[in-house]
Amino acid sequence: MSTSTTTLTRSVLITGAASGIGAGLASELAQAGHHVIVTDLDRIECGRVADRIRSGGGSAEAVALDVTSDASVAAALAALSRPCDVLVNNAGLQHVAPLEEFPIGKWDFLIQVMLTGVARLTRAVLPGMRARGFGRVVNIGSIHSLVASPFKSAYVAAKHGLVGFSKALALETAAVDITINTICPSYVRTPLVDQQIADQARIRNMPESEVMSRIMLEPMPKGVFIGFDELAGITSFLVSPAARNITGQTIVVDGGWTAR
Ligand code: NAD
Repeated sequence: MSTSTTTLTRSVLITGAASGIGAGLASELAQAGHHVIVTDLDRIECGRVADRIRSGGGSAEAVALDVTSDASVAAALAALSRPCDVLVNNAGLQHVAPLEEFPIGKWDFLIQVMLTGVARLTRAVLPGMRARGFGRVVNIGSIHSLVASPFKSAYVAAKHGLVGFSKALALETAAVDITINTICPSYVRTPLVDQQIADQARIRNMPESEVMSRIMLEPMPKGVFIGFDELAGITSFLVSPAARNITGQTIVVDGGWTAR
């Protein structure tokens, strides 16, 4: 078999993995044979996800990690049972409000988590990746890394920024077998999206069912939410030797949103 299609077992650290996409990715990547490091703000919540993976026969550990804190990042990396081969920058949050009503502290916090936090953690794992001669950084961007929606100015700015950050890092790491790419999904049904459905219904004064059909699924010609398995499959591909020359790219999973 060609080595470029062989699946190698890697140690995969996922941020924000106690919930939603991060937890889904953790389960799927563990099933694919990888060791998963489940990290999030709350150690107990991470432990639940890691326990579930281990009881299903997978390999996982749980570590508390707040991407906005240097001390938390340092403590988390020092606590790992093995080095991080693959970093999945997934932690995120949303706040929906017109700019004039958007508290500036909240605006800054979204940037802290989804942009500065990504830089903080990536720069902390890079020296080890360089020393071992291998590394993969997979960012969970968004369709909002490419297009905008009203009332999401901080989120759209952070997710667009992530793409620029990744391009710069792709150049900085080009001499080593390290890549950095950004997966850009449209809507995935998670607690973050459920909250947005409620928020949009309030702001637009429309029933939640209409928010789902008219606001969320309408821009996607395929008309369905994106699944965790799709994001895990793309992550596995990006980690594989076949993707070693794919770097600084966006992989858009949008059900056709940006095709029209
Ligand atoms: P979620 O709310 O279910 O999970 C987000 C997780 O991030 C939570 O567990 C939260 O505790 C964690 N988190 C928040 N702040 C953190 C911090 N400072 N440090 C560490 N962890 C922190 O949301 P989700 O929908 O699973 O979103 C995950 C990622 O996917 C986000 O980056 C989001 O922008 C992105 N995304 C989501 C969708 C979607 O439709 N759900 C679409 C595109 C992109």
